[in-house]
Amino acid sequence: MIPPGATVGVLGSGQLGRMFAIAARRMGYRVHTFSPEYDTPTGQVADREVTAAYDDLDAVRDFARGVSVVTFEFENVPAGTAEAAAEHAAVRPAGSVLHTTQNRLREKGFLAGGGFPVARFAAVRSAEELRAALETIGVPAVLKTADWGYDGKGQVRIDGIGEADSAWASLGISLEAREAVLEAFVDFEREVSVVAARGLDGSFAHFGVLANDHRNHILDVTVAPASVSPEVEREAVGIARGILEGLEVVGVLCVEMFLTRDGRLLVNELAPRPHNSGHLTFDACVTSQFEQQLRAICGLPLGSAALLRPAAMANLLGDLWSGGEPDWAAACRFPEVKLHLYGKAAARPGRKMGHLTALADTPEEARERVLTAREALRREERR
Ligand code: AMP
Repeated sequence: MIPPGATVGVLGSGQLGRMFAIAARRMGYRVHTFSPEYDTPTGQVADREVTAAYDDLDAVRDFARGVSVVTFEFENVPAGTAEAAAEHAAVRPAGSVLHTTQNRLREKGFLAGGGFPVARFAAVRSAEELRAALETIGVPAVLKTADWGYDGKGQVRIDGIGEADSAWASLGISLEAREAVLEAFVDFEREVSVVAARGLDGSFAHFGVLANDHRNHILDVTVAPASVSPEVEREAVGIARGILEGLEVVGVLCVEMFLTRDGRLLVNELAPRPHNSGHLTFDACVTSQFEQQLRAICGLPLGSAALLRPAAMANLLGDLWSGGEPDWAAACRFPEVKLHLYGKAAARPGRKMGHLTALADTPEEARERVLTAREALRREERR
């Protein structure tokens, strides 16, 4: 057990690390963060911000020597980074979890091999293989780079077999590894996720089923609880539990899923860390996903993941700044809306700058409230 007062290390320095650090400091831990950047969202609230490249393994070893446990907020660190850190500190979740989840083909292989439901897929390494895969999988389909994909980056939809060459070429720049996965396009009714935690002792806790809306492939709004049948809820949680156990995760992992029109769940993606769809747990649950990650990696008992009230989260992307600094006071006029800002200086379109969480008596009201509050932030709308 790593007790309060000890130091935890975070690889990565974005908003996930920031909220993790806030949770950790509240419980009396010290936090160090490691990333190639300065004045980062995590660094601003950490005790120490180390700036070095992820492949500077001496710097990684130095960092690990100064902490009791290392965790991640950014899962695309090189495998060697986790290995170097593990020479000097416990790494949770283990590097093997990152290895599986940072490559879509390895991840799909793990899921399909474990009997978890996924859309039909095939590995593709050339335009010829893509044509062959399109024959078996059919169209519409989605071609995704195996590495480095997130928020819809490195993916292209294919509606006809004739598009094979142009689709392959369009992924070209990001395809250094020349490896991609072709997936059947899922005509989903909605997207849901389950954020769950597994303790050092194998204990399990989950935040139920969350309903997610994406815009331009980026998460836009999450509502909790998702209005799904008890059977779907049971199945979704069962899938999440099976995955955390199969990967022997110590920490938090999010399972993103499609719910098809005929009521089937298909796993889309895994994130071996707290997730954007779990941000509302900060304000709406007994224990947030960030505190849960801390408890898990420190070998403490997991806290209750119970939802105190229905809630909705809306992301604040850089686009919101197009008319000038948003009107923060306007959002604070909603007494049941909580404002979170990540301390990022430059508001670029599509960049996650912060989020709002609204609490209400029903999930529908929470959703309505968070959207109204976000609208009230817009400067140009108010002129
Ligand atoms: P991903 O980067 O794989 O999480 O994809 C980002 C978003 O693209 C998902 O949340 C979906 O909205 C959409 N998407 C990805 N894969 C598929 C698919 N096979 N069928 C339908 N939509 C997809």
